[in-house]
Amino acid sequence: MDEETRISRRDSLLRLGGLLAGAATAGAWEVADSASAGPAGVASGAVSCVLAPEQTEGPYFIDDQKVRRNITEGKAGVALTLRLTVVDASTCRPLRGATVDVWHCDAAGVYSGVQGITGSFLRGIQRTDAKGVAAFTTIYPGWYPGRTVHVHVKVSLGGNVVHTGQLYFPDAVTDAVYRRKPYSRRPNRDPRNTGDPIYRNGGRRSTLKLRKSGSGYVGSITMGVVRG
Ligand code: FE
Repeated sequence: MDEETRISRRDSLLRLGGLLAGAATAGAWEVADSASAGPAGVASGAVSCVLAPEQTEGPYFIDDQKVRRNITEGKAGVALTLRLTVVDASTCRPLRGATVDVWHCDAAGVYSGVQGITGSFLRGIQRTDAKGVAAFTTIYPGWYPGRTVHVHVKVSLGGNVVHTGQLYFPDAVTDAVYRRKPYSRRPNRDPRNTGDPIYRNGGRRSTLKLRKSGSGYVGSITMGVVRG
């Protein structure tokens, strides 16, 4: 797991951002005039829809996953819907047809397809709709030693990767979720967000906004990406 902290981070977007994660919804960040739009606007900070900092993909990415909304594959856990909105960082407009790839560990902290684990659970791909939204049906992730709870995400446009990041959860929500089974079988998660070396590098700005939905949650975030 230490591998994730050793791999170098692409951090360029972090310097451009400065926005609170989850504060925006697609279309809410209209650019006042064209002079402040485009890459110059992003660089100057006039355009402020860049939200998600670049972070390492870690050692557990597997290419060519299934295109599917429900990635649960029967894994037990608290229901989680991910609503990930992709916007063009230079215009703040939603990007349709972007490929969003997510992967995360199960309630026991285990990834599919690596370290002798079979299957493709909790991995999948969706394309964004006209509102820039890719939605996934999954479970709240567990944790593994050395990392706070997170979901890996990769966004591609026309075959080019335009964003690699990690999505985080408010600690208070995770505490509530982890009091429930099956998470409660593994108490004393470590680290929490602030103790995580990768989270520390911009994680606050890629923290999902969570709201309750039935017995589970909906997690939302807007990710501004720079087109190649
Ligand atoms: Fe991970």
